[in-house]
Amino acid sequence: MVLAFFNRARTAPVEPPDLEPRPELGKTWMPEGVTVVERHWNQAKSAIVLVYSTSDSGYHVVACLGCHFSVAQDPDRGVVSGLNLSDANRIATEHATKCRAVSRALPDCPDDATAREQLRKLTLSWRRTADKVQIMVSYFDVHRLTLQRSNEWIEAELQQLALDRPDVFAVQRSDYDHTTFYYYVLPMAAD
Ligand SMILES: [Zn+2]
Repeated sequence: MVLAFFNRARTAPVEPPDLEPRPELGKTWMPEGVTVVERHWNQAKSAIVLVYSTSDSGYHVVACLGCHFSVAQDPDRGVVSGLNLSDANRIATEHATKCRAVSRALPDCPDDATAREQLRKLTLSWRRTADKVQIMVSYFDVHRLTLQRSNEWIEAELQQLALDRPDVFAVQRSDYDHTTFYYYVLPMAAD
């Protein structure tokens, strides 16, 4: 497995890769809420670039464990859409080839209070002065390596946020299937 992933890198390695699993560098890391589909790296000590998914939507996120590169859309394309696996792998390989970072320590799994605070901060960063903003759970995809929570946890927290802060956040249940929820960040009152 590891060799197959390694061979995706475009540039030949200077030294043989370390094939021992090194969880601290992300080679076996699988935080809650994400499915790591591929791992790309270029040299033994270089940062690992993960391709992961957070749902069965068919879309992927590329995130580097060395620098802060994290994308859920193709920066080279004007179209705003999720990344299919082949585009995600291409972007991951390109990044692994040029990134000079070494892997940082993996983010610790936050406790619930910390994860909740992070989620609320991210949610309210969508707040604007005009119009409410509909947000999707997938908007948090690029933050899932630090959040380390499931989609269900995120949805439950968003619903709780609407109860706790009806002035800033609202949830609407679908009239059709009653199981789909729509999430809205409410506008700031204009002064
Ligand atoms: Zn990087």
